Amino acid sequence: MAKVIDWLKENRRLLFSLEITPPDRGRSMDDILSGIDPLMRFEPQFINVTYHQPHMVYEEKDGVITRRPRRKKPGTVGICSAIKNRFRVEPVPHLICGSFSRFETEDTLIDLHFLGIQNILALRGDPPPGQARFIPEKDGHEYAGQLVEQIARLNRGQYIDELEDPFPTRFCIGVAGYPEKHFESPNLEKDLQFLKAKVDAGADYVITQMFFDFRLYKEFVEKARAIGIQVPIIPGLKPLVNRRQIQTVPSAFHVNIPAELVALIEEARTKEQAFAGGIRYMAQLVERLLEFGVPGIHIFTMGQGHATRSLLDAVFSAPR
Ligand code: FAD
Repeated sequence: MAKVIDWLKENRRLLFSLEITPPDRGRSMDDILSGIDPLMRFEPQFINVTYHQPHMVYEEKDGVITRRPRRKKPGTVGICSAIKNRFRVEPVPHLICGSFSRFETEDTLIDLHFLGIQNILALRGDPPPGQARFIPEKDGHEYAGQLVEQIARLNRGQYIDELEDPFPTRFCIGVAGYPEKHFESPNLEKDLQFLKAKVDAGADYVITQMFFDFRLYKEFVEKARAIGIQVPIIPGLKPLVNRRQIQTVPSAFHVNIPAELVALIEEARTKEQAFAGGIRYMAQLVERLLEFGVPGIHIFTMGQGHATRSLLDAVFSAPR
């Protein structure tokens, strides 16, 4: 089934998707595909591929300052195409507002449509490394909601310039939601209003930011439903398995890590024990989510194939 929303509506099985990040410039396609290979036995229905703004640097030569991209993770569209061909799994490219003008967004959407890609996760995107706040591109979108509107317009055959007899695209649109609120938002209620605006603009479903406490997801869904957000809300999950992550994850993703999980990892005597404790905790979290009746689970692999595999082994081998 090509579209996430069709799978969610028509299939009784749980949706299971993975999220991967393109490799740095200079790495080969095999690097990324061999990372996905061992996860294919869990039969994901969709594989998301992230997109990132380039890291820009300013260089001065002969008194003239120029700006150029230094590090960029290329290849989201190419990786999506390779995933579709090699694994026969539907890719979900992430499309961001940052670094795209509306015209460049339209061109990218046309390319994706020509490649037969029917799913998009529409995001504002993080600021590039070294930049504190998000700055939209000239003639680009400031918020993900505007990107959703543009994709929805293209689905109705409305291009930026009026065209005679234009073809409509058929994109299924996902958006991000934040159980602990987006870090720039003054409160969760306000953030949820903007999430509702994204859904009203045409988003078909939501994938959440990672969270480590079942209660946060449950309350988020309840609050979303209370203000009229009726689309599926898929929990996004990241296995947390070592001490470094305890330090880096909260500041990188603006999320809390419950004391119980911190203790499991910090008080472990060996790395292996910490790893096993983290996987056990996450597997229990997934179990509670499944009991609650989530529409699917989405795993942020972030180059952590081993942790993802261990979590999936624990989840899929558990008796039900
Ligand atoms: P928005 O929905 O635009 O929200 C951003 C902020 O603006 C929020 O605080 C919101 O409350 C506020 N806001 C929204 N609309 C309005 C409005 N009309 N007026 C005023 N305020 C408003 N980042 C990447 O760079 N690449 C990726 O591939 C990527 N993948 C992700 C996948 C998932 C599942 C998730 C949860 C996040 C991902 N991110 C990615 C991170 C995301 O881009 C950042 O969190 C970004 O800061 C916000 O993106 P958004 O789409 O939620 O933005």
